[in-house]
Amino acid sequence: MAKKPKSKSKHKKVQLWKKYEVKDGKVIRKGKLCPKCRSFLAEAGNRLFCGKCWYVEVPKEAKEGEARAAQQSG
Ligand SMILES: [Zn+2]
Repeated sequence: MAKKPKSKSKHKKVQLWKKYEVKDGKVIRKGKLCPKCRSFLAEAGNRLFCGKCWYVEVPKEAKEGEARAAQQSG
């Protein structure tokens, strides 16, 4: 009878309390929420990414940078 090797899952629990901050008795949400499924967006480079529904939010600055790179004037 072979023993099953215990799987060491490296899955980190989402530390939701870190996403909130209480200021003057008010709860302030840190980070952005997904407009689709209301879960927290994860930062991926210069954009925000929802791990639940795969929604990706690109900041305006990043968009402008990409547009500038795409527009090859000259
Ligand atoms: Zn989402």
